[in-house]
Amino acid sequence: MANEQVKAGYFGEFGGSFVPPELQEVLDYLGEQFLKYKDDPEFNEEFRYYAREYIGRENPLTYARQLTAKWGGAKVYLKREDLNHTGSHKINNVVGQILLAKRMGAKRVIAETGAGQHGVATATACAMFNMECVIYMGAEDTRRQALNVFRMELLGAKVVPVAKGQGRLKDAVDEAFADLVQNYKHTFYLLGSAVGPHPFPTMVRHFQSIISEESKRQIIEKEGRLPDAVIACVGGGSNAIGAFAHYMDEPSVRLIGVEPDKAPTLTQGVPGELHGFRCLVLLDEQGNPQPTYSIAPGLDYPGVGPEHSQLKLSGRAEYAAVSNEEVLEAFQELSQTEGIIPALESSHALAYARKLAPSMGKDQIIIINLSGRGDKDVEEVFRMLRG
Ligand SMILES: *Cc1c(COP(=O)(O)O)cnc(C)c1O
Repeated sequence: MANEQVKAGYFGEFGGSFVPPELQEVLDYLGEQFLKYKDDPEFNEEFRYYAREYIGRENPLTYARQLTAKWGGAKVYLKREDLNHTGSHKINNVVGQILLAKRMGAKRVIAETGAGQHGVATATACAMFNMECVIYMGAEDTRRQALNVFRMELLGAKVVPVAKGQGRLKDAVDEAFADLVQNYKHTFYLLGSAVGPHPFPTMVRHFQSIISEESKRQIIEKEGRLPDAVIACVGGGSNAIGAFAHYMDEPSVRLIGVEPDKAPTLTQGVPGELHGFRCLVLLDEQGNPQPTYSIAPGLDYPGVGPEHSQLKLSGRAEYAAVSNEEVLEAFQELSQTEGIIPALESSHALAYARKLAPSMGKDQIIIINLSGRGDKDVEEVFRMLRG
């Protein structure tokens, strides 16, 4: 991405930064530091070292032979983010931002978490990099996700329940920003998706783009050509933007984001402002952000990253919504045909792919970004199917 665009933090009319002046100063400094290190060979060498030795990259691009035969159309490949340490793509961004935090001299890392997945990834990396770690989590969410709270504590993090507001993710984000403004000298705010005010969407995309950097090299090695489509689920949009990044300038590759039909930000949202940036957002009749409900905790967010908002408007990427029933079918199908239990989030991408693949030719190729493994969801699926 061009450095001017990185500086401005705008994707068409979306993105930007709409925050109080005290916070803006801190974000400006963060943006400068990110610009300074993102092309620094030593910094990138360190990122690659931990990507290999700690995350376990590169992960495979697995040919799904049985699934391909069953769907009867395009050849299906799975990008295996589920095989990363801690079981999803989230750790890519966490390691990248922690290395930046270290360069900036931070001793303390704070983060927000909804269901707990980003909090656990952050607590994990903080343990390894010997950083003090504080996770803000809505009080309501700490009750519903008690086991993830324990996981974070086990990893040495302090979990702060936020009772303000509705005691949900948004309130946790507000508390984390308030902490940052108070303690910016030694504290780094590690945000978990390609959302929020500049420079977060650009920074998260940068670290997650390792997904498509690898998949592009891998598909050319295996097939000698580019895929016809890349499909990923979209919550805030970080795994999808990482899976799309290196294909953005390849017009023959369709980029497809999939969201829950109960949180259809990209398929039904309107331009608006949320949490300090402009994006497509779901509003209720009063013009307030609409509560969303998804069986996949990582996709439950009324807004979406600014770059996806722009990709939707420009038409470079397509977005589709799938139902809970379709997601549950896809979850079981991958388990049974390939012996891989996918995260419910990733099952959204699979649910759409199984509708698309049969309509494509046998000489065509799709890559599905398998953003995470499904162990965390097995209990919930058990309740839904047998409960
Ligand atoms: C958090 C999460 C997501 C959604 O977040 P994005 O920023 O949209 O990628 C998707 N899949 C898994 C496995 C997750 O943990």
